[in-house]
Amino acid sequence: MTEPVTTGTLYVVATPIGNLEDITMRALRILKEVSMVAAEDTRHSRKLFNHFGITTSLTSCFEHNEAQKGDYLLGLLQQGKSLALISDAGTPAISDPGSLLVQRCREAGVNVSPVPGASACISALSTAGLPTERFCFDGFLPPKTQARRRALERYLEEARTTVLYEAPHRLLACLCDLCEVLGNDRQIAVARELTKLHEEMFRGSAAEALEHFSQGRVRGEIVLLLAPAQKQAPQETVVEAIERLRAETDLPMKAIAKQVAKLHDLSGSDVYKIVLNLKEQDSVTD
Ligand code: SAM
Repeated sequence: MTEPVTTGTLYVVATPIGNLEDITMRALRILKEVSMVAAEDTRHSRKLFNHFGITTSLTSCFEHNEAQKGDYLLGLLQQGKSLALISDAGTPAISDPGSLLVQRCREAGVNVSPVPGASACISALSTAGLPTERFCFDGFLPPKTQARRRALERYLEEARTTVLYEAPHRLLACLCDLCEVLGNDRQIAVARELTKLHEEMFRGSAAEALEHFSQGRVRGEIVLLLAPAQKQAPQETVVEAIERLRAETDLPMKAIAKQVAKLHDLSGSDVYKIVLNLKEQDSVTD
């Protein structure tokens, strides 16, 4: 009887986002030990390999060949060979190729193991000084203005810090749209060239960022962070808001309660009780 072949492991290995010292000892060992390394750009990764004396064979796995290359890599894993997946910088599959291969491995019951390390998203978030308890990561914004503006509208009331990637040649246009859609005063951070020689963390309003980055050509790699939207303090009391909506609209009582609850960040049922109370008082005085 032949022994069933145990599958190999796909190691998802993070590589530096700038400073070559930002690679873990485990990453170096795994990259040396696996049968083959699937890289986003083999020429780019060859420099990393030469720097660390890694001689493992490299094969390309990028956006446009990930589907077919996946068959080949999955085949090797199923034969019991362990492989590593790397991207040009940071953590694979995060705004980078890899997630398709990982999904296929999971579906096929092939072991996938992270070898964690640098990621521009987490590096920027952890050093920007914006709230970190809850955040959302949305990758790259659409490159064209109209689509970008529509995408930015999503953050008008976003209560979490938002992390975005942006290309340097689009930063100014993006900041213009940001001022337009989210207002000049929205607080933001622009993390540029993290871990590199010209590392910069700009903090200020969207308008201040636009002025700062308009002073010269924007260079380097950029993470854009949006502070959570500030809730506007309501200009009127709960009772005033209810009275206004009753006078100005034909909305049913429940809808009025819902709107006022949203404006004042209260529960709909609590506001509905106030609405009913006011209605009752009105009918007594009528
Ligand atoms: N998978 C990578 C990661 O985990 O960081 C991200 C890949 S994505 C294609 C590349 C983008 O990440 C860049 O366009 C830039 O927005 C951001 N980025 C990468 N390195 C950076 C750095 N050193 N400083 C600031 N942003 C960086």
